[in-house]
Amino acid sequence: MSLILDLIFPKKCYGCHQEGQYFCSNCLDKLNNIPIKPLVGSKLESCLSLFKYKSIIKSALLDLKYGFVSDLADELANICVNRIKKDYPSLLKYWLDNNFILIPIPLHQHRYNWRGFNQAQILGENIAAKLGLKYSDQFFYRTLNTSAQAKLKDKTNRLSNVANAFVLNPDNIENLPKNIILFDDVTTTQATLNSAVTAFNSSHENHHYWGLTVAG
Ligand SMILES: [Zn+2]
Repeated sequence: MSLILDLIFPKKCYGCHQEGQYFCSNCLDKLNNIPIKPLVGSKLESCLSLFKYKSIIKSALLDLKYGFVSDLADELANICVNRIKKDYPSLLKYWLDNNFILIPIPLHQHRYNWRGFNQAQILGENIAAKLGLKYSDQFFYRTLNTSAQAKLKDKTNRLSNVANAFVLNPDNIENLPKNIILFDDVTTTQATLNSAVTAFNSSHENHHYWGLTVAG
């Protein structure tokens, strides 16, 4: 099936439109790294965003989110995995040595039902498998059907929009691992990641949390 689709809609690079793949090496090389910044006032140890949320990464993530391109997740996961292995090998070793588990930020059930999938789950599971990290999406869920963050221009609105938006799954709370990577496709203010980590941290003070996003 995908061979037929490839003939009708050949894969083209999001940057230069050359056929063959969604991200050619030339265009990938132009995407700068974002330095890891210490997070002040957050319970996250830090947050790693692999690409800037602009140009070809932004277009690809929007296409994935709205389900326009079915085989895009695998290639997006690959470029994330390659960047982590190449540019952050000691961080990856720290995550692996300390049994970090990757947990994607959930969508509210209403939005999940409407969209049919959660792009953070699809990408996160793929990335975790390729890096050899444990993965689960069973530990917490979203309580408030927060209006889409991207629509809220104002930072204060964004922060209050997601406060207390997450709760832990009571059926699974005893199995919660100590070291957690919270994964999302995009973060701008880290408001969503911080709200999620608050849900975990309220009952698990001595755990370690990292944020990981494709773009920021
Ligand atoms: Zn290209």
